Amino acid sequence: MESNCIHCGEYFTAIRSSKKYCSDNCKQMAYFKRNGLELTKDIETLEEKHFIKEEMPKETYERFRVKYAKEFDKIRKEMATCGISISNLKEMINEAVILCLNLRQLWEDGGIAMKEGLQNLIFPSGLVYDKKNGAFRTSEINFIIAQIARHTGDLALIKKGLSSLFEPKSLSAES
Ligand SMILES: [Zn+2]
Repeated sequence: MESNCIHCGEYFTAIRSSKKYCSDNCKQMAYFKRNGLELTKDIETLEEKHFIKEEMPKETYERFRVKYAKEFDKIRKEMATCGISISNLKEMINEAVILCLNLRQLWEDGGIAMKEGLQNLIFPSGLVYDKKNGAFRTSEINFIIAQIARHTGDLALIKKGLSSLFEPKSLSAES
């Protein structure tokens, strides 16, 4: 089933309907964000109590302020070290496959930034417009995209003299 990641908003294929995040990475980031937001609120309340309402003596305020600053630091350090681990490699590949399967839709719905991103991803060495033939040419197509296109026959490019790019470099993974 299709679902939206509640952190990044991306569509992903959920095996279980209870799955809320597209990846472990998003789950982790959402956790950090939640903790960070709670902490920000706590700090605001603290400052309000001390500076605005003047309900809190300076020593108490200072003690809490140091405590919250340390918690903030801890979250920042955890965020810096977590990164993308091998454990969610499978999910990353899953995401990449979904992206490849929805290229046309992404291109049609996406803005300039999305189109530029996709263009760079699919044609890593850029596109050249061939005036004489009225066609775009490139010397390179992303290997994975080329393999998918070769299998699905989805790209009209195959007929445009780029078929050599779709020649299998390795068929060892095929059944
Ligand atoms: Zn996500």
